[in-house]
Amino acid sequence: MLTRTEGIVLRTAVFGEADLIVTYLTRDHGILKAFAKSPRKIRSRFGSSLEPLTHSRIAVMGREDAQLPRLTQSDILRPFQTLRDDYTTFVRASRLIEMNLRFLPEREPNHDAFRLMMQALAKLESGRKNLYFLYYKMRFLQICGYLPGLEICGRCGRSSSERSPQYFYLAHGSILCEHCSAVRDEARELSAGALRVFCGMLNWRFATIDRFRVGDHLIAELDSLLEAHIAYVLARPLQSTVFTA
Ligand SMILES: [Zn+2]
Repeated sequence: MLTRTEGIVLRTAVFGEADLIVTYLTRDHGILKAFAKSPRKIRSRFGSSLEPLTHSRIAVMGREDAQLPRLTQSDILRPFQTLRDDYTTFVRASRLIEMNLRFLPEREPNHDAFRLMMQALAKLESGRKNLYFLYYKMRFLQICGYLPGLEICGRCGRSSSERSPQYFYLAHGSILCEHCSAVRDEARELSAGALRVFCGMLNWRFATIDRFRVGDHLIAELDSLLEAHIAYVLARPLQSTVFTA
């Protein structure tokens, strides 16, 4: 059976002497692995289309339940070469790749995750990269059902005040109000400014993100909180994925 879709290369792994296993985030099948015969030989028809982050039109051949269908076509739609040329950007983009590999199950269609990655890669070719990386992480966690709860207390549901610092508890994945937890030393403090930005971001879209002004220190604060949350979540077995977007 021949399956055609679009995919973004997340990673490649060497297989045998000249072959590769390519892991894609695809538009129609979520994470999809494919076996690429001899792409490492000179004059391979796959050319540079198997570089990480490349967006291609692909076709794979194999039974529907085949573990590793064979890649038969890979035509570059958008190379995103500038993201690989800049070392720092590529390292940070690799974090987004890793999140996809860790959170998304194989062959479970996720149009939102694909669309979000496409939007992020396009934005990251220029502009305010710190903000784009942060926004991507927030939306990705939302899509996967792991958005940290910063708007309300994770226990009693009381709205968090945007005027004073709040306290985020990794074990709860949310803030807890002062009535629900007195043990502040287990918590990460979240500034009122960062909380306002986070709540605002929930209403943003990539298309209009450049309208918003956010201080670098607030971006860094939220990024650090999201990274701590992600590390905590990934240290536990993932529950079945819940899609909220
Ligand atoms: Zn509470």
